[in-house]
Amino acid sequence: MAKDHSDSAVGEQASDESENATKGTRVPPVSKPSDKNQATVGAAKPPAKTAAKKTTPAKKATSAKTAAKPESRTALVRRARRINRELAEVYSYAHPELDFENPFELLVATVLSAQTTDLRVNQTTPRLFAAYPTPEDLAAANPEEVEELIRPTGFFRAKTKSIMGLATALRDNHGGVVPGRIEDLVKLPGVGRKTAFVVLGNAFGVPGITVDTHFGRLVRRWKWTEETDPEKVEAAVADLFPKSEWTMLSHRVIFHGRRICHSRKPACGACPIAELCPSYGEGETDPEKAKKLLKYEMGGMPGQRLKPPPDYPGKAAPPLGAA
Ligand code: SF4
Repeated sequence: MAKDHSDSAVGEQASDESENATKGTRVPPVSKPSDKNQATVGAAKPPAKTAAKKTTPAKKATSAKTAAKPESRTALVRRARRINRELAEVYSYAHPELDFENPFELLVATVLSAQTTDLRVNQTTPRLFAAYPTPEDLAAANPEEVEELIRPTGFFRAKTKSIMGLATALRDNHGGVVPGRIEDLVKLPGVGRKTAFVVLGNAFGVPGITVDTHFGRLVRRWKWTEETDPEKVEAAVADLFPKSEWTMLSHRVIFHGRRICHSRKPACGACPIAELCPSYGEGETDPEKAKKLLKYEMGGMPGQRLKPPPDYPGKAAPPLGAA
């Protein structure tokens, strides 16, 4: 399977281009979205049908009505929430795409996901966690042995330092337990807000918005915001949705970015939210050609998790080295 190197970033100090994440308490305060969010919708003519789903007349009417004028704040909120509802139908099975059994595994896996795919991390972590199941085990490990185990994820020396550093901090400062507060998580080596929110949202059930490379790209295509700074994107999107939606919204948007609205070749002709997207036409609009661009379960390929949730409609990912 082709790698999607747009997915992640090393340790988050280097970049914030990674996978999942969530947030609970919004710290520190960040700027509010402004009228910069205003957009016109429907400037390009979307298809009458998409490959994934039929377009309703109501959507067409809305699209046509808003074609010529800037979008009001109220209209933006409505459109954003409609996109979320559509995505919730399409990706009813959206979930974090890292395999994990507990908060420690999720924390380590998220740090390892920098600059590689969740698939590669999922193929690598079973051996790592079998050898070092607890923070105490990993903190006391031989760094060279850890490097060898995580080599397939790339940047393995820096990542070894990060995960051994955070394991040591967990052992020495948190009694070997992953803390459930963002203030504590972001102080761990190699852990930034994005990683912290992944852990909070998916291991502690704290609502949060994950601004990874997919999320940022898609919300800008949808004109929810023009911001590029992840914290400002996070604040702008948080202002459009109730907190209870934040974590699942993040998963749905990231699912859509990985499967349909790709960075270079968005499959607009197969997109279920084409009628709500101001950037329709940025990618392939021919339905048949667009269908061929779909990935993972949408394209009939294996997913990223070796152990996907029971409701996942696709195939499990193969272990490392499998054909
Ligand atoms: S695939 Fe095209 S129509 Fe769909 S969200 Fe992306 S840019 Fe918009």
